[in-house]
Amino acid sequence: MTKTATRSLAGRRSFLRSTAGAFAAGLTSSFWSDDTLDAAVQNVNRNSSPSQLKITDMRIAVVAGAPMTCPIIRIDTNQGISGYGEVRDGGNKIYALMLKSRILGENPCNIDKIFRKIKQFGFHARQAGGVCGIEMALWDLAGKAYGVPVYQMLGGKFRDSIRCYSDTTQSKDPKEFAQRLKKRRDQGFTYLKMDLGYHLISDTPGTVTQPLGITPQDVRMTQHMFTGIELTDKGVAMMADYVAQVREVVGMDIPLAADHFGHIGVNSCIKLGRALTPYNMAWLEDMIPWQHGELWKQITLAIDVPTLTGEDIYLKEDFVKLAQMRAVDMLQPDLASSGGILETKKIGDLIQDYGVPMAMHFAGTPVSAMANVHCAAATENFLCLEMHSVDVPWWDDLVTGVGKPIVQKGFVPVPDKPGLGVELNEEVVKQHLLPGEGYFLPTEEWNQFRSNDRLWS
Ligand SMILES: [Mg+2]
Repeated sequence: MTKTATRSLAGRRSFLRSTAGAFAAGLTSSFWSDDTLDAAVQNVNRNSSPSQLKITDMRIAVVAGAPMTCPIIRIDTNQGISGYGEVRDGGNKIYALMLKSRILGENPCNIDKIFRKIKQFGFHARQAGGVCGIEMALWDLAGKAYGVPVYQMLGGKFRDSIRCYSDTTQSKDPKEFAQRLKKRRDQGFTYLKMDLGYHLISDTPGTVTQPLGITPQDVRMTQHMFTGIELTDKGVAMMADYVAQVREVVGMDIPLAADHFGHIGVNSCIKLGRALTPYNMAWLEDMIPWQHGELWKQITLAIDVPTLTGEDIYLKEDFVKLAQMRAVDMLQPDLASSGGILETKKIGDLIQDYGVPMAMHFAGTPVSAMANVHCAAATENFLCLEMHSVDVPWWDDLVTGVGKPIVQKGFVPVPDKPGLGVELNEEVVKQHLLPGEGYFLPTEEWNQFRSNDRLWS
């Protein structure tokens, strides 16, 4: 009903008043003869008329220092409601903008239909950022249109608050680093992670064997197995001792994961993994790239510490493959790379059948954080969600509508408001825009983009 579609909140209020008046006057069936009947049988709390909702615009505001650079997406509609999403941290806003012409005019409540239309334009890691960010914004819109939180549309929740894990800034001094990590425990975090790169010990002679003259730039751009870098027994012992000193301070009772080992070979990964057994690590993350499932399996079988990968994988199929072949013990999608909210719930459900838990990688603003929170609430095998912004004082202030602090003693309460449950704080977002970027400036140049996108003939 078009009249219904355009009826304003004020109109609904006057309808409610007139309803009360009509009953007071003793009117019965004749009262229901006009279009107020339509309103009466529908949920009066709804924010819009979902079946007539159309996407009219998409704009971006790129936030910097959160601590990462994060393009926030706003999708506008013909009914005055907007949805928010976010390109993965470090990804370019163009990954989203190039999809604008494909979503204009669509009903944003048809989330899966739109996702299937645009998913061919995503790829692993940041290249998935546009597809995933738009998917988040569609859920936000659908939730606002129907007046329900995102977790409810995913099937309801398994938990009311989301356990977060946190790491902290590095130091070559294990004692100093241990104190920093202990502070996270004191802040209420119940799950910790640390970086454990070989550079922590490589200043000491005799710890690392590597091709002479290899530069850090060479290493950065070369996958682990191809660098020729191996740890010596002395290097492995020093790295294990570093962890021992951290464990002494943070305790043995709290899970402690490790990441960013540096680009070392598979045999060094195994030697190090074995040396870390006494410290009961929660997981060893991305020791080698996720693409090498057979090598991962070799590491996983050789050590007694859980292994984990997944933050750069796009779409469920590769997660399932790694779970099926038992390449790693745990998987960790980044929702802004893995395919968005629904795809990530599917990933959790599918790997659960193989006994694999799902941690969630995350390094964005509160917009993307809330997308993660709803997905985590609705996915049974969820373990813990990364929280990267503990030391960014204005991070919470980027949004309104949600309880503060957003992370309360290491947990995020799951919001019950429609959609993702947050609105942007325009003033604070404007204060932290990437230099040269504007606040949701027009993007009309992306309205038209002609191409035959069919993947088959
Ligand atoms: Mg990582």
